[in-house]
Amino acid sequence: MSLQVLQLQAGYGDIPVLHGVSLEVGEGEVVALLGRNGAGKTTTIKAIMGLVQIRGGRIVYRGTDLTRLPSFRRAQLGLGYVPDDRRIFPELTVRENLLIAHRPGPWTLERVYQLLPRLREIENRRGGLLSGGEQQMLTIARTLMANPRLLLLDEPTEGLAPLIVEEIARLVEALKGEGMPVLLAEQNLRFTGRVADRGYVLETGEVRVEGNMQELLRKDEVVALLSL
Ligand code: ATP
Repeated sequence: MSLQVLQLQAGYGDIPVLHGVSLEVGEGEVVALLGRNGAGKTTTIKAIMGLVQIRGGRIVYRGTDLTRLPSFRRAQLGLGYVPDDRRIFPELTVRENLLIAHRPGPWTLERVYQLLPRLREIENRRGGLLSGGEQQMLTIARTLMANPRLLLLDEPTEGLAPLIVEEIARLVEALKGEGMPVLLAEQNLRFTGRVADRGYVLETGEVRVEGNMQELLRKDEVVALLSL
């Protein structure tokens, strides 16, 4: 098992948001975290990364208990976090954005460019001048440059045109082909139906349904939980 989240409780200040979320990501598995706006997807990802206060439960990654470790230690142990607001450096070029994130390991600038050839084409362009899709690719590529062993992707397709969503799907499939475990928070069911092996549906900070992704998409209960 790559990642195990056990009865996780987390929130902001005095406000509890997650009320005992349990989930698992196996080695080489792509797992989706589904749910409407406000269900707690982002909070779950941030809690795993150590960016929100944890009130109970445990997070175990490859046998190491992360629950009380600061974020940078979680990153050093192999967690790679792709935030939904992208946070690339607008003044730096694509290449500089990538090099600044590099840590030793199998992922190099060359390998990242092979996976995402578009980034090589625009390597001298400043981050602030990229389209939304290019920014999303750069954000994922930058996280890969730090050589993580598990990726946490927060809403990677949010606000992107269908053709770009298709490219992000191919990218996630390629990473899966490389054996990279991925936990992704998403609202786009077509995308998750394509890339995810399993899924968890959150509602008000609790897992309501979980299972094989294709089976989840056939359940009326899941469709009801995800419709607006
Ligand atoms: P979205 O797609 O809107 O990001 P989500 O499923 O990721 O939805 P979260 O962002 O995890 O949901 O939000 C869960 C709950 O936590 C919501 O009720 C939200 O209002 C609350 N919340 C999120 N961020 C904060 C914060 N910084 N301070 C207080 N409450 C917050």
